[in-house]
Amino acid sequence: MPINEVGNGFALIGGSMGFKTLQSPGANIRELGRVETPFGSSQPLYLLVDNGLIYMSRHGIHGYEVSAPFVNYRANIWALKELGVERIIAWSGPASMDELLDIGEIVVPADVIDETKARKYTFYENLGLGFIRQNPAFCPCISEALVQVCVERFGRCASDRVYVCTEGPRLETVAEIRKYKMFGGNLVGMTLVPEAFLAKELEMCYAPLCYITNYAEGVRTREFRPGVLFEGLLDDNERHAVDAAVAALPEIAVAAMELLSNKPRDCKCGKSMERYRRRGDIGDDWRTWITVGEK
Ligand SMILES: [Zn+2]
Repeated sequence: MPINEVGNGFALIGGSMGFKTLQSPGANIRELGRVETPFGSSQPLYLLVDNGLIYMSRHGIHGYEVSAPFVNYRANIWALKELGVERIIAWSGPASMDELLDIGEIVVPADVIDETKARKYTFYENLGLGFIRQNPAFCPCISEALVQVCVERFGRCASDRVYVCTEGPRLETVAEIRKYKMFGGNLVGMTLVPEAFLAKELEMCYAPLCYITNYAEGVRTREFRPGVLFEGLLDDNERHAVDAAVAALPEIAVAAMELLSNKPRDCKCGKSMERYRRRGDIGDDWRTWITVGEK
């Protein structure tokens, strides 16, 4: 496809139930296709015509076609950059290790612990670039807007929790959950790493918007039920709460985007590579920062 800058500079990365959620009657969605990148094909991109938001489903548009360890995060983030996206809201449905959070509750995590094992973590393989500070881990401006929207809508929004990103696709053992809690983790999922770090490497703002899908192993006693999602970690009432949360996510993202679009982008995310720029290591065209296979 021809690469054009479309949309309004905002993107929403959705999870396995994302695309279905957007297809409400009357929704005006334009298919933009996949972007071919130096790292392979991205997932298909869509423009929500009514509000200018770019949408991408990281696991594929029909559901969970690609599990978290095998998502091509580099191609997806590259594709969003190519379309002129500057600010990304990324949704994820982690489990909670924290009993104070309800199933279906919307949470804006404050930080992330990387417990993944075998992913492609950087655009800058063998290039001497990418020594980037991670405090804050996520864009404070987007996070603040998401929290504001959620508080207005739900009366509260946990914004100090830590997301532990595991490799998957298997779920965690009881002992692993105990370890992550000792680390200070509250949520456990499989998708924010390396997505968040790759976005920062290309100087994009990125913040997660999470909904709690279930309690992590060992937090509540749950019988093993073969053949159902999460094999019994989630009961039917909780399932309804999760569905309601997922249905609310696009509206929350759009409302946050509207809040942000009235403000200048005054966070530091757009300066992640400034040291390399000043040193003359990189030029104005971000595509030239990455030279695959050389050196
Ligand atoms: Zn930012």
